[in-house]
Amino acid sequence: MPAIKQQDLIDSVADAFQYISYYHPKDYIDALARAYEREESEIAKDAIAQILTNSRMSAEGKRPVCQDTGVAVVFVKLGMDVRWDGVSMDIDSMINEGVRRAYMHPDNTLRASVISDPAGARLNTRDNTPAVIHYEVVPGNTIDIRVAAKGGGSENKAKFTTLNPSDSLVDWIVNVVPTMGAGWCPPGMLGIGIGGTAEKAMVLAKESLMDSIDIHEIIQKGPQSRIEELRIEIYEKVNALGIGAQGLGGLATVLDVKIKDYPTHAASLPIAVIPNCAATRHAHFVLDGSGPAELKPPKLEDYPKIQWVPSDAARRVDISKVTQEEIATWKPGERLLLNGKLLTGRDAAHKRIRDLIESGNPLPDGVDFNGRFIYYVGPVDPVGDEVVGPAGPTTATRMDKFVDFMLTRTGLMGMVGKGERGPIAIEAIKKHKAVSLMAVGGAAYLVSKAIKSSRVVAFEDLGMEAIYEFEIEDMPVMVAVDSLGESVHNTGPAYWRNKIGNIPVVAK
Ligand code: SF4
Repeated sequence: MPAIKQQDLIDSVADAFQYISYYHPKDYIDALARAYEREESEIAKDAIAQILTNSRMSAEGKRPVCQDTGVAVVFVKLGMDVRWDGVSMDIDSMINEGVRRAYMHPDNTLRASVISDPAGARLNTRDNTPAVIHYEVVPGNTIDIRVAAKGGGSENKAKFTTLNPSDSLVDWIVNVVPTMGAGWCPPGMLGIGIGGTAEKAMVLAKESLMDSIDIHEIIQKGPQSRIEELRIEIYEKVNALGIGAQGLGGLATVLDVKIKDYPTHAASLPIAVIPNCAATRHAHFVLDGSGPAELKPPKLEDYPKIQWVPSDAARRVDISKVTQEEIATWKPGERLLLNGKLLTGRDAAHKRIRDLIESGNPLPDGVDFNGRFIYYVGPVDPVGDEVVGPAGPTTATRMDKFVDFMLTRTGLMGMVGKGERGPIAIEAIKKHKAVSLMAVGGAAYLVSKAIKSSRVVAFEDLGMEAIYEFEIEDMPVMVAVDSLGESVHNTGPAYWRNKIGNIPVVAK
C-alpha cells in the first residue's frame, strides 16, 4: 500500500469543506422533496420550497447553502498501519490547514465563525480554525474521514441528561424537542447518543448525524433491531408534535432520527440529542495513498423540480414608509415581500448599541433605527460581482433580551430573524405594537438575491457582526409575532398537533 502524502490530506479536507458548503447530501434533498409533497400546511410548504430552491441555487452557483457555514467537525478513523510520505505536520495541523484553505477560498469564501477565548475576549480566529476533531484508531492502512459543518443555530439546541434506567427515553425526547424551539431550522434530523458516559453520549449523537437518511427504508422493511424500533417510534412521535418546517406548524419536523449506542453503567441511562438543521452538510472519503479524495458533484437532475416563487397571497410592503397602523393589520403566518432599506445587527452589535446608549454616547453616524426594521444576520462576504454573500437570518431568541430596550430607546419598529420569540420579546412587541418577522433559515442564498445593495454602516471591526444597510427588493418573510403579541410559533404547532391526531406521519 502506498504511503499517504500530507498534501493529499490537506487538499482532501479543503475540497470536502468547499463541497459541503454548496452541495446538500442527495439523501437530504430526496427526503426534503418527499416532505414537500406530503406537507399540508401552506406556509410550512412555502418554507420547504424555499430551502429546496436555495439548495439548487447553491449547487449551481457554488455558494453556501447557509450564511452560517459552521464549525468544522471531523471524525477520523486512523489505520494502525498507515504509512506517511513527506510529513512535517501532525494530523490536527493538516486538517486545520485544509479547513483554513476551504474557508478562505477566493472563489467561495466561507464565513469564519469560530472565536477563541470563548469565556473572555471572544476574538474571531479569522479562518474558522480550529476544527473539532475526533479520532479512532482502527486496524488497516487507510485514513477514513467524515467532515461536517455544523451551524450554531442547531448546535445550540443540543440536550443531554442522565435518566434513571427505568425512565422512558422516548418520553424525555418527546418532551425536550418542543423546548428546542425553531432556531434549529427544522426540518432536519435528530442525532441521539445513548449510553456510555456523559461525553461519550454527546459524541455518539454527533457521529450518528454523519449517516445517510434511511428511515423510509426502515419503515418499509420493518424494524430489525431495538435501535430501529426506537428510531421509528421517536420519528413518528416527534413529527406528531406538529412543530413543522421552521416551527410554523406542519407535518415535517424531522426527516430522520439517528441513534448510536454504547454500553453504560448499570445505574445510568445517559442520553444526548443533537439536532441537524436545514443546512445538513457532511461528506465522507478514504485516503489510501493513491492521491487526494475526489467527491463527485451531484447532478442537477438529482434536484426535485420544485421552484419557489412568491405566493400570490404575499403582501408587498415598503418598510421605509410602513406605518404602525399598517403593521397592526399583519397577521401571524402572513407572507410579506419587503422592499426598502434594512439595517442589520446581531449579538455583538446589540450589546455595543446598548452600551453606547446607556453610557450617554451617540450611536455612530448612519445608525438611526427610528421607524426602521433590523435584520438579525451575519452575512457571508461577497465574491465576484455579488452585492453580498448568502445572508439568511440568525436565531431571533438570542436578541430577545434587547427587544424592549431597542423598541423603547431607538424607535425601532420591527425585527427580522428566524424562529420563535420568547416571552420577554413578545411582551415588548405587544407593549410597543411592534412586529417580529421571520425569514427562512437555510434559504440564505435565495434571500441574498433580494438584497440589491449593501454597505457597512458601523462596527466594521466586528466582521460579519458589523451593522450593514441593505437595500432590498421583495425579500420573502413571514409574520412571526404580530402587534398583539400573537406568535405563529405558538399557534401553528398547536393547530397542527391537534389536526395531526391520528394522521400517520411516516415517510412511506
Ligand atoms: S440552517 Fe439554520 S441552524 Fe442551520 S446553519 Fe443555517 S441558520 Fe444555522
